[in-house]
Amino acid sequence: MSPVMKTAGIHHITSFVRDAQANVDFYAGVLGLRLVKKTINFDAPEVYHLYFGNEAGSPGTIITFFPNPYSRKGVIGAGQVGVTTYIVPVGALDFWKERLTTLKIPFTETARFSETYIKFEDRDGLHLEIVERAEGTPSAWSFSGIPADKAIKGFGGAVLFSYAPDKTIQVLEEVLGLEKAGQEAGLIRFKAEGDMGNLIDVNAEPMERGIMGSGTVHHIAWRAKDYEDHEAWRSYVEHNGFHPTPIIDRKYFHAIYFREDGGILFEIATDPPGFAQDEPQAHLGEALMLPEWFEGHRADIEKNLPPIQVRVLNHSPDETYSSVEIQ
Ligand code: ZN
Repeated sequence: MSPVMKTAGIHHITSFVRDAQANVDFYAGVLGLRLVKKTINFDAPEVYHLYFGNEAGSPGTIITFFPNPYSRKGVIGAGQVGVTTYIVPVGALDFWKERLTTLKIPFTETARFSETYIKFEDRDGLHLEIVERAEGTPSAWSFSGIPADKAIKGFGGAVLFSYAPDKTIQVLEEVLGLEKAGQEAGLIRFKAEGDMGNLIDVNAEPMERGIMGSGTVHHIAWRAKDYEDHEAWRSYVEHNGFHPTPIIDRKYFHAIYFREDGGILFEIATDPPGFAQDEPQAHLGEALMLPEWFEGHRADIEKNLPPIQVRVLNHSPDETYSSVEIQ
């Protein structure tokens, strides 16, 4: 009999966007996250793979992007992560409302499961929200005029859009080990064991399918504790009738991928080794890091990539932010 396994929650979320600088300006400049790794898509070395998170890029805080100016605009819908939820300290929501207002980023205020959310979109149309929560390790990163005590701690969770919610729910409960925590307004809430990236909402009724492209989430990764745990996860996923990929070395974690029957691409990723294994913690994200197997092509790879810069965006409208075309 297989062991009963439980993930701590979200490890990272990966999306498609178009413009690399607009992506950096939004996630570092507006949201104040740290660019913790500047590398390339290992499966498509002509585009960046940018990782943003807390000061260390801890699991549960990492959002990653493949910026590709030629990518077609996608449609958010079933078979995707529909909304990515960030948590801030209790009492910080007013700061964020003011900040988004100052930066002229429209937002709406909504409530569910007794919490108040502000919802907005990034430059590519990805749906994001911020909620206050006492849970989660406070951020030690302060950037772009956001004091650490107001800063985003990491993911609170995500809203999954499924075309077969019963199937998605079954995977969450029976494979990933989440527990049902509530139901409200067409959403069913599940809770993982960790204190970040741990509240996952799923649509209760099937929705129309989305189309992959810029402005949509490509996959969501769940946490495995270590390499041994990861191997156990692979067997467990397979034993439950899914077809996981072999274990792939993504340099900053090991990964397996499988598509659940509600259409969403799931990954399980290891907490180790993390982002400080190929550059010092104090300089994360500053240099373009390539895996060994691409080092021989560094000159060609660099020539192909647009230069990007992590910029402070405090005062708006300023020329920096308003000059970037909104798609
Ligand atoms: Zn991934």
